[in-house]
Amino acid sequence: MDKLSRQERSRNMSHIRSADTAIEVTLRRALWGRGARGYRVHPKSVHGKPDLVFTRWRLAVFVDGCFWHSCPECFVAPSSNQDYWGPKIARNVERDGEVSAVLEESGWRVLRIWEHEIERDLEGAVRAVTDCLTEAGWRRD
Ligand SMILES: [Zn+2]
Repeated sequence: MDKLSRQERSRNMSHIRSADTAIEVTLRRALWGRGARGYRVHPKSVHGKPDLVFTRWRLAVFVDGCFWHSCPECFVAPSSNQDYWGPKIARNVERDGEVSAVLEESGWRVLRIWEHEIERDLEGAVRAVTDCLTEAGWRRD
């Protein structure tokens, strides 16, 4: 049974997607402010189109939405349309693992940050990125 019309659902999903993007922008601005600037956004040439890629430091950063990627702390399964959400979210999680594995096998560092981590502790999220960069040899100017 599907109670949402297609139109309603696409409206819901576009809302959730734009919220994900806003959190990415929050992180990007904070990184820029800390001098971590040499990144590209969603590069098609990198497997899985990471949210941020520091090509020079071989670091791929993903900001994972707590709903879409089934965060262990925040995720609550929707009570309706289980047949729709269940497999869709399961596929996302599976793809996340696959993408990370492929990137790591080809020499990338992969950092995944939950949406809620940025919301609750932006400084901590920024530090997680700059720590990875520092390990790769980056120095803040
Ligand atoms: Zn979460």
